[in-house]
Amino acid sequence: MPQYNPPLRDMQFVMHEVLKVTDEFKALPKHAEVDVDTINAVLEEAGKFAAEVTFPLNISGDTEGCKLDQATHEVTPPKGFKEAYAKYVEGGWAALSCDPEYGGQGLPFVLNQCLYEMLNSANQAWTMYPGLSHGAYEALHAHGTDEQKKTYLPKLVSGEWTGTMCLTEPHCGTDLGLLRSKAEPQPDGSYKITGNKIFISAGEHNMAGNIVHLVLARLPDAPQGSKGISLFVVPKFNVKPDGSLGERNGIFCSGLEHKMGIHGNATAQIVMENASGSLVGQPNKGLAAMFVMMNAARLGVGNQSLGLTEVAFQNALAYAKDRIQMRSLSGVKAKDKPADPIIVHPDVRKMLLTAKAYAEGGRALAIYCTLLLDKEINHPDEKVRKDSAEVVALLTPIVKAFLTDNGHIATNACMQVFGGHGFIKEWGMEQFVRDNRINMIYEGTNTVQSLDLLGRKVLGNNGATLKKFGKLIGALVAEEGVNEKMAEFINPLAYLADQMTKFTTELGFKGFQNPDEVGAAAVDYLRVAGHLVFGYFWARMAQVALREVAAGNTDPFYQAKLQTARFYFAKLFPETATLMRTARSGSKVLMDTDAALA
Ligand SMILES: Cc1cc2nc3c(=O)[nH]c(=O)nc-3n(C[C@H](O)[C@H](O)[C@H](O)COP(=O)(O)OP(=O)(O)OC[C@H]3O[C@@H](n4cnc5c(N)ncnc54)[C@H](O)[C@@H]3O)c2cc1C
Repeated sequence: MPQYNPPLRDMQFVMHEVLKVTDEFKALPKHAEVDVDTINAVLEEAGKFAAEVTFPLNISGDTEGCKLDQATHEVTPPKGFKEAYAKYVEGGWAALSCDPEYGGQGLPFVLNQCLYEMLNSANQAWTMYPGLSHGAYEALHAHGTDEQKKTYLPKLVSGEWTGTMCLTEPHCGTDLGLLRSKAEPQPDGSYKITGNKIFISAGEHNMAGNIVHLVLARLPDAPQGSKGISLFVVPKFNVKPDGSLGERNGIFCSGLEHKMGIHGNATAQIVMENASGSLVGQPNKGLAAMFVMMNAARLGVGNQSLGLTEVAFQNALAYAKDRIQMRSLSGVKAKDKPADPIIVHPDVRKMLLTAKAYAEGGRALAIYCTLLLDKEINHPDEKVRKDSAEVVALLTPIVKAFLTDNGHIATNACMQVFGGHGFIKEWGMEQFVRDNRINMIYEGTNTVQSLDLLGRKVLGNNGATLKKFGKLIGALVAEEGVNEKMAEFINPLAYLADQMTKFTTELGFKGFQNPDEVGAAAVDYLRVAGHLVFGYFWARMAQVALREVAAGNTDPFYQAKLQTARFYFAKLFPETATLMRTARSGSKVLMDTDAALA
């Protein structure tokens, strides 16, 4: 059976020692009083919830899956899911970082980030029920009318109701401009919505009193394409003016997808027949409003893979210390045993350290991003708010795609550590691989993320935001460039930062002449950018660890951090050279391939 220990020490290291979040909070009036003890106490309780309540349901939820009653259209999630959700609501976890005006606790987003990393490690399928609700809360909070906020936000904040995002239709996934669901205006100002949605996560279940669907549809006079999409809130049960539940609305689950992983989450086919809804935001501006939810979800999906990377690593490490096979190449290590534990073999260590480096680097990046979100929303200085928003926008596709690709590499490597036993269900490793696989696909495939990064976020503003992030690297290089002990971290980082400018300019020039050049280079580009960002955080983590060691701190945590940083720069970071080379090889070899693909 797999195990899970919440990585509280590492979270505290990132928050308190590397990013010094409480110093940053002092500048945010809403969070000025949030101190280290409060953060640590919340994290500890969150870790207990994940490890004790949802983790024990991970394997059983995967085995049992969800069941649809075709007659009633009701879905029953796996045994224990409903009870765990009730505990989540009772514990106030849904409200952790929500607005106090609607019953939230108003704590910083960084705490929610860590809560969700642990929930994802424990049980990604279960976590998607509250996770999507949080995105729906954010979209309605940003774009809802006062009436909609009053009706829906307190219930989403408390967790009594859950939310969904209904974008995808059978013929329309990446290209939302193709969507056909229709919304007919009614004399009372409401809308009747008709159409079919597929792949709707947490789309139907019995865990909450109501489900708040956020649905994209077209108004009768809407322009073609993505400029004619509007956003509607469509509840499972209509809500009466006094807030109580009315009759069942015309939005039903007609089928459940049978899928590779996340079996405990209901992936619903949804039919809407004159479902009653209300418009969110402006007519035909639905995509912009939905982007609030989609951006939150993209960071959330990166966090799903971060969670799986961590839990897979923990289990592979325990197994590698215990399993004995063959002798070490450099001589017997466990004389009292008939063979050495497999952790003595260099390649087993490489697999373990790959997962560890990706988990810890991903954690630093994800917490940094949510700290920027806290600043974007709460900082009194408008320029800080604007800069934070720009950098989060730049980093969002990197969090989504780089962390989920790394999750794929890491969960597979950890499964490999188990040999044949990794492929067998009993150890739980193959579930981590299967559950992670969807993270590279939904919320905009990783290809789409890379086009967003290179095409829109970098070339779209002539690299201005990338330069903002580059300044952070420049400052670290200036601070540590003469420190010999930091050279093994700073030199490759400074070199890549310098290369990145030339590389981006070159791709921009080629893309200007032929847009397919951007499409051909984007996936490799995102991975290089991911390493640039990870390299920055690994160098900062090494800096803190070196200072502690120099000051005589003998806590093995810092030695471990330094060794993992060394591994990262020696074995993972150098793939950037190959990636830049393949990106530079251009689009011709892809686009002149008609004969090969005929
Ligand atoms: C388990 C699960 C849960 C989901 N949950 C939700 C949900 O809650 N709500 C929701 O609305 N949707 C959800 N989805 C849908 C998901 O977001 C889509 O599957 C995804 O956006 C891709 O769309 P598609 O499957 O139609 O693939 P397509 O859009 O058909 O893409 C097929 C391939 O073509 C590539 N491609 C497409 N366009 C381009 C381009 N311009 N350049 C390069 N490559 C391109 C894609 O990257 C992909 O590899 C879920 C899907 C699954 C499987």
